[in-house]
Amino acid sequence: MTFSPFQLATRLAGCQPAPDDPFAATSVPLYQTATFVQKSAEAPGPYDYSRSGNPTRAALESQLAALEGAERALAYGSGMAAVAAVLRTARPERGVLAGSDLYGGSFRYLTQVLPLYGIPVRWTDATDLAAVEAALREPTALLFVETPTNPTLRVLDLESLAALAHRHGALLAVDGSLMTPCRQRPLELGADVVVHSATKGLSGHGDLTAGVVAVRDPELARDLAFLQNAEGTALAPFESWLLLRGLKTLALRLDRQEQSARQVAEFLAGHSAVRQVHYPGLPGHPGHEIHRRQATGDGCLVSFETGSLIQSLRFTQGTRLFPLTVSFGSVTSTASLPGRMSHACIPAELRTRSFPEDLVRLSIGIEDVGDLLTDLERGL
Ligand SMILES: *Cc1c(COP(=O)(O)O)cnc(C)c1O
Repeated sequence: MTFSPFQLATRLAGCQPAPDDPFAATSVPLYQTATFVQKSAEAPGPYDYSRSGNPTRAALESQLAALEGAERALAYGSGMAAVAAVLRTARPERGVLAGSDLYGGSFRYLTQVLPLYGIPVRWTDATDLAAVEAALREPTALLFVETPTNPTLRVLDLESLAALAHRHGALLAVDGSLMTPCRQRPLELGADVVVHSATKGLSGHGDLTAGVVAVRDPELARDLAFLQNAEGTALAPFESWLLLRGLKTLALRLDRQEQSARQVAEFLAGHSAVRQVHYPGLPGHPGHEIHRRQATGDGCLVSFETGSLIQSLRFTQGTRLFPLTVSFGSVTSTASLPGRMSHACIPAELRTRSFPEDLVRLSIGIEDVGDLLTDLERGL
C-alpha cells in the first residue's frame, strides 16, 4: 500500500489516472476487451486475457486495496463469489468457525457447499468471547464473522476476535459489506481478510453485482489470485468500471445516508406502532460502545420489530419510497422482510433464534429525509 497524506473522501473523489494510459484520461478507461495482442508468442504484454487480468479491473483492485490498507484486493463477479473464495481456503483438517449471525447466502454456502469439499464448519456466538475461545480449541483455519450483523445489527469486538483467532493459529475473516472501508477497516483492527458484497454500499447504485476480497498476507493474496484466474470468477471490465465510478461518491453518499438513518432510527424508536429498533448508532444499542470504538459511522441499515408479522407485511405494502427489495446500500431507500427474503434460506428454527419473523429492515438512501419520515408514518 502506498501512503497517502489525504483523507478518505479526498482519495475517493480524486483523479486516479490509469497507469500507463497514453492519453492521461482523468477517469479510468473501460477496457472492454477479452484479449490483448502480444508482440511475439514468447512475450506476452502486461495483459493477455481479461479473465487473467484487465487494466480496468486492476485499477479497481488497487483502489480497493488502498482503501482497506491491504496488501492486495481482488474483485469478483458477486459478493458470494468473494465469500466462497475466502471460505474455500480452509482445509478438511482445519475447518471454519463461523459466527452464528451471518448473511443468508453465506449460511447456505457454509452448510451446503463447504461439506462437498469435506471442510468442517462449526458455529459460535461471536458476541461471546469465551464461547469463541472454547470453539477455537479445535483446529480452525478461519474464523468468519460479520459486524454489525445483518439484519439484527449485533456488534462484535473485532480486535478481541483477531487476538483470539491468532492465539489459536487461525485467521480472522470479516464480511465488511455493511460498513465499507469508509467506516470500518478490519485489517487495521487485526483481521487478516476482509470480504465485501460490493453490490451494496461500495457501488451504491443498485446497478451491478460484485464482490471484493482484501488481504494482508502476500502469500494468501497469491493463492487467491491463482484461483481467481483458474476458476474464472473475476469481475468483468464493465462492472469494474461501474464500481470505480460508484466508489468516487462513497463518502458523500454515506454521510447523507447515515444522517438520515439516524433520524429514521430515532423516529421509529419514538413510534407507538414499533416495538423495538435496532441501530448501532442509538446509545441504548447493546453494542454501541464497541461499535463506536472500531467504526467511524453507523451505516444505512435500520431494522425494527412491529410485534406482528401481519403488521410488518402491511407496512411493506403501505409505503411509496421504500420498494420491497433484497439488498441494501443504494442511493434509493428500500425495505425488506429478511425472514421471507434475504435470509429465507436459513431454516426457520435457526433463523427465529436470531431474529423474529416480523423484523423489517430498512436501507436508507439519499432522498429528502422529511419525505422518508412522512412515508414511514404512512406505512406504520
Ligand atoms: C449481499 C451480501 C452478500 C452476498 O453478496 P452478493 O453480491 O449478493 O453475492 C454477502 N454478505 C453480506 C453481508 C451481504 O449483505
